[in-house]
Amino acid sequence: MALYSEHSITIYNSLSSKKELFKPINEGAIGMYVCGPTVYSNVHLGNLRTFMSFDIIFRYFKHLGYKIRYVRNITDAGHLENDADEGEDRIAKKARLEQIEPMEVVQKYTVDFHNILNTFNFLPPSIEPTATGHIIDQIEIIKGILEKGLAYEVNGSVYFDILKYNESNDYGVLSGRNIEDLIHNTRTLEGQTDKKNPQDFALWKKAEPNHIMRWPSPWGLGFPGWHLECTAMSTKYLGEKFDIHGGGMDLKFPHHECEIAQAKAWHNCSPVNYWMHANMLTLNGQKMAKSTGNNILPDEILSGNTKQLSKGFSPSVTRFFMMQAHYRSILDFSNDALVASEKGFLKLMDALKTLKNLEASTTPSDFNVSKWKQGCYAAMNDDFNTPILIAELFNAVKYINQIKDGTNSIDSESLITIRKTMQAFVFDVLGLQELSAVGSHDEKLSETIALLISLRNQARTQKNFALSDQIRDQLEKIGIHLKDGKDGTIFSLD
Ligand code: AMP
Ligand code: ZN
Repeated sequence: MALYSEHSITIYNSLSSKKELFKPINEGAIGMYVCGPTVYSNVHLGNLRTFMSFDIIFRYFKHLGYKIRYVRNITDAGHLENDADEGEDRIAKKARLEQIEPMEVVQKYTVDFHNILNTFNFLPPSIEPTATGHIIDQIEIIKGILEKGLAYEVNGSVYFDILKYNESNDYGVLSGRNIEDLIHNTRTLEGQTDKKNPQDFALWKKAEPNHIMRWPSPWGLGFPGWHLECTAMSTKYLGEKFDIHGGGMDLKFPHHECEIAQAKAWHNCSPVNYWMHANMLTLNGQKMAKSTGNNILPDEILSGNTKQLSKGFSPSVTRFFMMQAHYRSILDFSNDALVASEKGFLKLMDALKTLKNLEASTTPSDFNVSKWKQGCYAAMNDDFNTPILIAELFNAVKYINQIKDGTNSIDSESLITIRKTMQAFVFDVLGLQELSAVGSHDEKLSETIALLISLRNQARTQKNFALSDQIRDQLEKIGIHLKDGKDGTIFSLD
């Protein structure tokens, strides 16, 4: 019997704003779609947090023995600079600025995304489809919505008619936004005169002559609206109705709201049973974002080469840091929080090493291993509560250390259970890696440079400028550049 039949999971459903018992459409099988990155720049740690939350959910379902199809797309066209169908395509803009082909931009940042996910020990999704690979599917959906009379064509563009849709549907069902407020609050922007109402959204946009990313369609040369790709790809690979759709909280509106409207307009059924939204990673209390520059990149956390960090941290410490908060809570990034996470992670790894060498005895113990194991599952079954799971893992750490110190004992059956359970949750579900397996190379390099920087500072305080200059010049020669600023010295590598 599969493990999942012994567990009932509750999921916080953004659609009902409450926790619901999870029941997949087909017993033992799950379809899950998560909005992927727009590949026009490097992903930052905020993006990584959302993808990591769903990586752990994917891992846990797999651990329970579910057959899961996990679809995470790559947005390689159609995502304009702002959400009101305005501005340049983000990828085309980058291509113009860097004077390269849009597909070179896409290739560069898709490869970068995969490398980062690999470094941080993500499991690959089952399917990773691209928007540009599904233009025909998107055109078919637009035709369907036009046939239903819920979209209109103007001057080579097609827009979704929200007011018409709202006559027999509920636009705002996910985000809780009220159509009257939307009408009241949406400004008519310049260049949006094509729309009947400013809150309508584009299904297809006519490509201006200078727009390089364009495809033929029944309405002329153009490109699909951003929301449409996810409807096309989720339906194609998971069906008209599927189990879980996820993404960051900031995608709830308008992106996911529009996905629901498109699907309902197209085939009359709400596409998703459980909508899940991961909360934001913040830096200095503000959302990490590409556009504002308020972000930390994965490379920066590994090297420690940023003014916010005193040193580098390994991928597993980063994971551990993120898992200490529940996916629906805001998490603030700080050096102190990472230092504390590293301490906790090392303590956990130490206990796992100890666990390998523990010996069973017949002396009675006051720690109930099977109850503890149930507690680990209960934490994850309760809307994937990783901080509670970690607290349970530390109950085991305490017990393991007591056994090592001779103040507690364990019988042989419990020893097997605790080893198996720790292995499953620490490595398989949380995706942490043993110290020897993590990217210790980067860490060692950044610690060595940090040491040299501190020796150089000492030399400067002692007015030994010959030595301080020698350290800087020698590092420069091997491609390590030091830069002094008001917050101290940072370095960059060639
Ligand atoms: P994008 O490439 O901008 O479409 O973002 C990819 C994913 O990262 C989406 O699910 C976003 O909701 C999510 N995301 C963006 N910023 C943050 C953040 N600061 N914290 C957590 N998730 C984020
Ligand atoms: Zn999406």
